[in-house]
Amino acid sequence: MKIKVGLGYDIHRLVEGRPLFLGGVHIPHNRGLLGHSDGDCLIHAVIDALLGAMGERDIGQHFSDSDPLNEGRRSTEFLEAAAGWLYDRGFQIANIDTVIIAEEPKLNPYVKGIKESLSVQLKISAEDIGMKIKTNEGIGPIGRREAIAVWAAVILYSKGTQDNDE
Ligand code: MG
Repeated sequence: MKIKVGLGYDIHRLVEGRPLFLGGVHIPHNRGLLGHSDGDCLIHAVIDALLGAMGERDIGQHFSDSDPLNEGRRSTEFLEAAAGWLYDRGFQIANIDTVIIAEEPKLNPYVKGIKESLSVQLKISAEDIGMKIKTNEGIGPIGRREAIAVWAAVILYSKGTQDNDE
């Protein structure tokens, strides 16, 4: 069996006049995440973790933020594409773990829904997705409510005869 670990990180600014999307879920709030796409930094961090485990470069190399085709796109489309690549290569997702760092809004009421949304996108059980909600204790730009940041880690595994695996 081949086992691969991946790590992802992303941060986006919170600005007025944008809807807030995290993990593909619309969260009612008076501000949203700035971005070329929908700014969903949770999905972006998860994608980077998946890509990293596959030995690929970051999300921007695959879904450029200078490509007009990606403007305003939902990040769930990028996530479905990245999941398709890993399944095409014979990988399975063992588990994903995430840390969302946000001073506001309060996200704990949305964790169950976000995990379910991600599990559908990734075709895995919601039990295989970890999600911790942290504040930044008022420190720095996240503490000043200027941004939301996310860390994500993933373990992929593959069985079978690809690359003459034992
Ligand atoms: Mg991003």
